[in-house]
Amino acid sequence: MLRLFRRGPGRRLLVMGLDGVPHSLLTELIDGGEMPNLAAVAASGDLRPARSTYPTVSCTAWTSFVTGVNPGTHGVFGFADLEPGSYRQYITGSQYVRSPQLWRILGERGRRVVIINVPVTAPPPEVNGVLVSGFLAPRLDGATHPPELAERLQALGYRIDIDPWQARQSLDALLEDLDATLRARVAAATELLASEQWTYAMVHIMGTDRTNHFVWAKWADGDPDYAPRFVQYYRGVDAAVGEIMRAAGDDAELLLLSDHGFTRTVHEVNIDAWLRAHGYLAIPATEEAKIGDIDEDTSVFSMTPGRIRLNLRGREPQGCVEPGEHYEALREEIATSLMELADPDTGEPVLQAVRPREELFHGAALDNAPDLLAIPRDGYDLKSSLAGDELFTSSPITGMHTYGDAFWLIRGRTLAEGTPCVEDGAPTALSLLGEDLPEHLEGTPMA
Ligand SMILES: [Zn+2]
Repeated sequence: MLRLFRRGPGRRLLVMGLDGVPHSLLTELIDGGEMPNLAAVAASGDLRPARSTYPTVSCTAWTSFVTGVNPGTHGVFGFADLEPGSYRQYITGSQYVRSPQLWRILGERGRRVVIINVPVTAPPPEVNGVLVSGFLAPRLDGATHPPELAERLQALGYRIDIDPWQARQSLDALLEDLDATLRARVAAATELLASEQWTYAMVHIMGTDRTNHFVWAKWADGDPDYAPRFVQYYRGVDAAVGEIMRAAGDDAELLLLSDHGFTRTVHEVNIDAWLRAHGYLAIPATEEAKIGDIDEDTSVFSMTPGRIRLNLRGREPQGCVEPGEHYEALREEIATSLMELADPDTGEPVLQAVRPREELFHGAALDNAPDLLAIPRDGYDLKSSLAGDELFTSSPITGMHTYGDAFWLIRGRTLAEGTPCVEDGAPTALSLLGEDLPEHLEGTPMA
C-alpha cells in the first residue's frame, strides 16, 4: 500500500533509547499487558530483534548508533581505554569519539537537536540545540549545552543517573532512586520537546539497564517482593515512553530501540586472574594494583569486558612481546588456551570465541582496539580485576549484557530485511528525516 509521509525540512524524528531492554523481555511484557504504549507502537510497526556491538557495552553500542560506524572507526571500545603508547586509562568521553555523531552531521546542515542523556556525550559538545550529557558525567552542573540549561533541569529535579554504589547496598533504595530519576527524565524531556525547535531528538533511559543488572535474577526467580517491582518499573518506563512520544507529537517519526540484550549472570569471570595463573601477567594481586604497574615481565593484560592486550615492544612503554611472528604466535596461544575455560560447576565452556581484532573491527582506530576480544557465552560476565586471584566470582549484579536480543521498533513502519544492528542507527535516522547519507557511514538504513 502506498503511504504518504511529510517531506522536506518539516520532518522530525524522536529516538528513544531504552538501554539494555531485551526483545524477548519486551515481547513478554507486551503480551502480558504490562506495556500498553509500547504495545500500541508495536502493533503499528515491526518489533524486531537486533544486534549490538563487540564488545557489548553501552558506550560502544550507542556510539555506533549515533555515528553509524563500527568501533574500529569511531574508536570507543569500552567505558575506559588506554591512552596510546601508555598504560594510562581514561574514561571514555565525547572528545575521544573519532567520527561525527548525528547531532554534528545535522547541526552542520542547520538542523536543530534535543539530546538527553545519551552515553558518551560528556563533556557536552556545542550542538545546534540543547544537550544534557549521559551517565559518566560527574554532575549536572557542567553537563549541559548551553550551560544555563543545567539550572532549568535542576528545578525539575533532574538526575543524570542513579547512584550505582547505593544500589549495591539496598535494592529498595535502588528502586526508589530509579523511579525518581525516571520521573525527572520525563519532566525534562516533555518540557524540552515542547519548548525547543527540533528536527532530531534523542532521549535515553539508562534505568532499564540498571534495573536489569541488579534485579534480573529476582525477576527470573519470581521473587515475591522484587519480581513484581521489576515489572512495575517497566510499567513506569512504558508510561514514560507514552508521555514523551505524545510531547513530541504524532507527526514526528518515532524509533524505539535498545543497544543490547540481557541475561542472567551465571558467573563473573576474572580474565586477569586467568592471565596471572598462566604466567602471562606479573602484577601481584593487591587492592592498589593497576595497569600502570606493568613492566617487562607481563606479556598480556586485559580490560573489561574480555579486551585482551599484548604488551607489545614499540607500542607499550614496557613492551616485551616482539612484533610480527611472536605477536601472532602469542595471540594464537592465548586464544586457544582461553577457549578451554570451563564452568567449575557444569564443565560448560565459558567462551563462545576469542577473536583477533582485525576480524571484528576495521578503520582508522583499529590500532586502539584490543589485540584479542574474548566473547563470552551468555551467562559468563567477563571482568578484569588486578585485585583478585579468584577466577570465578559473584557480586550483587545478577544480570549481564547479551549481543543478540536487543530490539528495534519504528512506529508505523516495516523495517528493511535483515537483522538491524546499532551501526544502522545514523543512516536510518537520516533516511527517516529525508536527509542525504554521508558517504563514510557503514550501516544501512532500515527504513
Ligand atoms: Zn549495562
